[in-house]
Amino acid sequence: MGYCDNRQPAGEGAGFTRRSFLKGSGILAGATFAAAMGLTGCSDGSSEADKGTAEAASGSDGAVIEYDVFDTEFLIVGSGFAGTSAAFKAYSMGAQVTIVDKGPFSFSGAAGMNWDEEVSWMNDPYTDWKNVLWNESLANQKFIKAVFEFTNNDVEALDMRMHYMRNGGTTWSRNEDGTWENLMLTGVPGMNMIQGGFSRHMQDLLKSQDIRILDNTMVTDLFVQDGACIGLLGYHVPTGRYRVIRSKVTLLAGGGSCQMYGWHRTHPRSMNTPDNSGDLEGAAYRHGCSLISNEFFGLDLISMVPESYGCSFNSGMGADGNHMMFVCDKDGEFFMRDFIGYDISRPVREAIMAGRGGDHGGLFLNLNTDIPVNRETVRPIYSRNIELWKEQFGIDVFEEGYMIPVTLEAFEHGQGPIIDERGMTEIPGLFSVRGCGRQRGDTTCYVLSPYVASCAVDYIKSVAAPANVDWSIAEAEFDRLDAMRTADNTGGKRPWEIRRAIQEAFYEAWEPSTDADKLNACIEKLELIKEDMAKVYVADQSKAFNVEWRTAIENEGLMVSTEAAVRSGLMREESRLTFFRSDFPEQDDENWFAWTAAKLVDGKMVVEKVEIPQVEE
Ligand SMILES: Cc1cc2nc3c(=O)[nH]c(=O)nc-3n(C[C@H](O)[C@H](O)[C@H](O)COP(=O)(O)OP(=O)(O)OC[C@H]3O[C@@H](n4cnc5c(N)ncnc54)[C@H](O)[C@@H]3O)c2cc1C
Repeated sequence: MGYCDNRQPAGEGAGFTRRSFLKGSGILAGATFAAAMGLTGCSDGSSEADKGTAEAASGSDGAVIEYDVFDTEFLIVGSGFAGTSAAFKAYSMGAQVTIVDKGPFSFSGAAGMNWDEEVSWMNDPYTDWKNVLWNESLANQKFIKAVFEFTNNDVEALDMRMHYMRNGGTTWSRNEDGTWENLMLTGVPGMNMIQGGFSRHMQDLLKSQDIRILDNTMVTDLFVQDGACIGLLGYHVPTGRYRVIRSKVTLLAGGGSCQMYGWHRTHPRSMNTPDNSGDLEGAAYRHGCSLISNEFFGLDLISMVPESYGCSFNSGMGADGNHMMFVCDKDGEFFMRDFIGYDISRPVREAIMAGRGGDHGGLFLNLNTDIPVNRETVRPIYSRNIELWKEQFGIDVFEEGYMIPVTLEAFEHGQGPIIDERGMTEIPGLFSVRGCGRQRGDTTCYVLSPYVASCAVDYIKSVAAPANVDWSIAEAEFDRLDAMRTADNTGGKRPWEIRRAIQEAFYEAWEPSTDADKLNACIEKLELIKEDMAKVYVADQSKAFNVEWRTAIENEGLMVSTEAAVRSGLMREESRLTFFRSDFPEQDDENWFAWTAAKLVDGKMVVEKVEIPQVEE
C-alpha cells in the first residue's frame, strides 16, 4: 500500500524516505543525506532500502518523524487553470515538471468544480485586450507588456484556448433543429469566447503527459535556504506523512483565497473552493514577500437558497454583469437593467445600504418578467438548475411573486506576492502567477501562466543546486506542524471555531460597505483571534485524514490573507472597483493609483504604498 501517489512512472528523482529522530530540544536532528536518485517508483516506507540513512540522534522521547523527498526541475503548486496552463508550457519546453495539489487531482480548486467555463481572449492583445481587461487595473505594466510580447510571438502555445478547442470544448454547439451555433461570438468587439471549457478535459490531457502529479499533498511552507527557494514543504493529507519536494524553480498557482468572506448557516459566502485558503500567500509572506491586491475581490450575485445550498455555482442561480435584467430590489424594481460593466458590486451595495435589500442582506432575482428565460438571458449553468430546484426542492422560480434571494459572494481574490516582469517574486527561484496587481486572478491565468512558466524555464539554466542542503530547515517546519497537532491545548478554541471567527469578523467589517471604524474594529478582533490560534486545540491527534489539523494549518494562511485585506483596505483611502469605503466613496487616482503592499517586519504586518511599475514610453 503506497502513500505516494505519483501517477506517472517516477523516473529519476523518485520519492524516497528520510528518517530523523527528535532531539531533546524539539528540533529534529540533521542527518546524512543518502541520495537515492535513480530509485524508481514511489516509496511506501515499507522497505528499509527505500529509506535514507536513519540517523540516531539524541532523541529524548523516541518520537520519530519521517519524511519523503522528491526531486524535480520545475515544481508547480496548484493544479487549477493556472497550474495546468503553466505545466503544459514548461513541459513543452522540455522541463521535468512536477505538479503538487492539496486535493485529489482534478477534483480540487476552482477548476475541480468542472463547470463549463467561459474562456475568453482578445483578437489583438495589445489594443483590444488592454482596453477591455486591464484598463482599470493596477497591473504591473512592465509585466503586462512582457506578456503581450510573448503572446504575439507564440499564439498557439501561449494560452489554453487551443487546448480547450482540441479537447472537448463545446465552442460549436448543435441546436435542436440541427444547425450549428458558434458560441465564440460575444457582444464585445475583438473578444472571443469558448463555452464548455471543461477543466476536466485539460486535466485528463495533463495526466497523459510525462508530468508527475503529487496530489493530496498540502504545501505548508516554502523551502528557502540562503535566501533562495529550493522547493516546498508539506504533507500527504491521507497519511499525514511529511514531504520535501526539491526543485530548481517553484511556481505558486494556489488560486484565490475567498474563505474569509463571511459564513451563512453551513457555508461561506463564497462559491470558490475551501481548498484555496491562502496557505501559499501566507508562506510567501512569512519568508519576506510583499502581498498586493489584498483588498480586491471578484464579486457577483449568487442564490442563498435552497437552505444550505447557498453560494453554490453548480446548483444555484445567480447573476454577474452579463445578466442584470432579472436583478431587482425588495420592491421588485429592476434597477440594474441599464447597468453596463462586469463589476456589479457598487450599485448592489448602494441599494442594500439604502434599505432596498432583503432580510438576507442581499437583493433578488425575479424570473417572472416579459424577458424570456433561456441560455442567452440566464447563464447555461444557472438555467439548468431551474428544473433541478423544482424537482428536488419544490422551489418553482416561476411561481407568481417568487423572488430568489441573492447576495454578493467572492469568487476570486486578487491577492498575491509582488512579482517582477518575469513573474518572479522577491525570493529568487520562486515564481507566481498571482501578484501582478490585477484586481482578481481570473480569466487571464491561461495567458499569464504559460508566460511565467517560460520565464521560469529560462531561469533554470542559471540555477545550481545548493552544495549542501540544510535539512534542519525542513525538519523545523515538520516539528512545528507536529507540535500543532499534538500540543495539549485542552480548553482552547477548536480550529473550526477560529475559522468562523475570522469569517464573521471580516464580513462584518466588509459588507455592504467598509470604513475606518469597521476596519479598525476588525483588526482588534483579528488580534484576539491570533491569541486563540496560538493555543488552538486539535482534539484529533491522529495523522491520517486529520481534518482538524488541516484546518488549523490553513487558518494560519487565511489569517495572513484576511489581515492583509483589512490592513490594506484601511490604508487605501478611496473606493475602486469592488473595494468600497463609505468614508471615501470616490476613486482617487491622484493619490491611490498605487499598490498597497503588506509585509512582515519585526514580526508584525506593515502595509506600505508602492508604485506600480510603468513602461517608459
Ligand atoms: C464558481 C466559479 C465560477 C467561475 N467562472 C468562471 C468563468 O466562467 N470564466 C472565468 O474565466 N473564470 C471563472 N471563475 C474564476 C476562475 O475559476 C478562477 O479565476 C480560476 O479558477 C483561477 O485558477 P487558479 O488555477 O488560479 O485556481 P484554482 O483553479 O482554484 O486552483 C488552485 C489549486 O491550488 C490548490 N492549492 C491551494 N492551496 C494549496 C496548498 N497549500 N497546497 C497544495 N495545493 C494547494 C488547490 O487545491 C487548487 O487545485 C470562476 C470561479 C468560480 C469559483
